[in-house]
Amino acid sequence: MVAQIESADAVVIGSGFGGSAAACRLAEEGLKVVVFERGQLYPPGSFPRSPRKMARNFWDPSAGLYGLFDIWSFRGLEGVVSSGVGGGSRQCRQPARSHL
Ligand SMILES: Cc1cc2nc3c(=O)[nH]c(=O)nc-3n(C[C@H](O)[C@H](O)[C@H](O)COP(=O)(O)OP(=O)(O)OC[C@H]3O[C@@H](n4cnc5c(N)ncnc54)[C@H](O)[C@@H]3O)c2cc1C
Repeated sequence: MVAQIESADAVVIGSGFGGSAAACRLAEEGLKVVVFERGQLYPPGSFPRSPRKMARNFWDPSAGLYGLFDIWSFRGLEGVVSSGVGGGSRQCRQPARSHL
């Protein structure tokens, strides 16, 4: 969703555990907070349930992919981070649930 924003006291980038907790605390203090999230909203039942849909569930805008899994590769280290409203907390439960 793209909203028209005129002013804010605080801007939080990312809606994961870190960003959402920070945004919550700032809002509780009465600040006008805006959260920017690059990923999609995943309402209940919207996670991919088939291998074909899973294959497109990656974050790689250069390949036209705007899915949940953002894979980072470094020398000797691979990382999976998340892209979506709620951040990596979405991934904590997705793998287990997708086998149900
Ligand atoms: C498979 C898996 C299972 C896990 N299981 C558990 C578990 O059981 N228990 C547990 O405690 N932890 C678990 N974790 C770890 C936990 O998910 C992470 O530690 C936590 O999500 C990190 O929070 P964060 O806010 O730092 O980052 P994230 O949750 O990754 O949030 C970052 C957010 O910022 C957004 N973002 C990034 N760049 C931009 C940008 N330029 N503009 C706008 N938005 C942007 C991303 O889309 C994302 O939504 C798991 C992680 C994975 C990958």
